[in-house]
Amino acid sequence: MKKQKIRSLACAYNHGVNVRAFIVLVAGLACLQTSALAVTLEGREPARAAAATDLAEIARVGGSGRTEFVLRGRVSRRHAAAAVRLAHELIEDTHRRFLPIDGSKLPPVDVCLFETTAEYRRFLREALGPENREGDLGVYWRYRRTVVANLSTPLGNLRHELAHALISDALGPLPAWLDEGLASLYNEAAWKNGAYVLGRSHRLAQLRAARAAGKLPDLAALAAAGEREVYGENFRAYYSLGRFIALYLDEKGKLAEFVQEMSQSRTTDEQRMALERYVDFAAFLAWTERL
Ligand SMILES: [Zn+2]
Repeated sequence: MKKQKIRSLACAYNHGVNVRAFIVLVAGLACLQTSALAVTLEGREPARAAAATDLAEIARVGGSGRTEFVLRGRVSRRHAAAAVRLAHELIEDTHRRFLPIDGSKLPPVDVCLFETTAEYRRFLREALGPENREGDLGVYWRYRRTVVANLSTPLGNLRHELAHALISDALGPLPAWLDEGLASLYNEAAWKNGAYVLGRSHRLAQLRAARAAGKLPDLAALAAAGEREVYGENFRAYYSLGRFIALYLDEKGKLAEFVQEMSQSRTTDEQRMALERYVDFAAFLAWTERL
């Protein structure tokens, strides 16, 4: 059971969030316990999931110093074409907007596409076991370099999960609120003239509701938040705040610099100082009122 939970560490985009803090704790302990033997948890996992690589290949997108996606599954031509287009767009836009091209030669990310929730769930059961708690909107399964997408939900969910994979490869681990905030930029993105127009409404109501209820964290609380908070019962506040801070910095032309600094910050204190240097919280809140 524990091993299964560790394996299923992945983006819990909206669901399955309660187990995540536990997973991270267990995964962290496992890494600590095995570090003396120079064996990491990741090192003990196969690089890719057999259940994924068994699926028929549709197309390869990316590579050349950026993440390569291998799109897989048996889906309609319309969905296959949409997924290929979307993967190209996302790679282009994330690197133009905030991701460095690091030239790393990581294995490809398998992107498993399913037309129906039933097929999607069947695959998760096969790959993760029957007790997996993943939601129906999509998963990025970091330790197996696998994205699983349910195409019966909006395509924005696939953009979100692909963004997690790109962010993880280019920047390494980020605080959960920032990882989710950056991925959430793309849920309602619309491709226009060679770039995404990032929607301004996605999660805005959640941000406003959290603020009205006195549940919106300030910058210090945000910086101090771990996965327990971000994926806990107040997750909407963390996701929406992360998303709109990312959008705010993007509009100021500061997002790339900011994420680079956050990825190089080693402690929560350093991350808080970076956050406070880039974001004037009062000005940020005033900006959200004008959206
Ligand atoms: Zn996510």
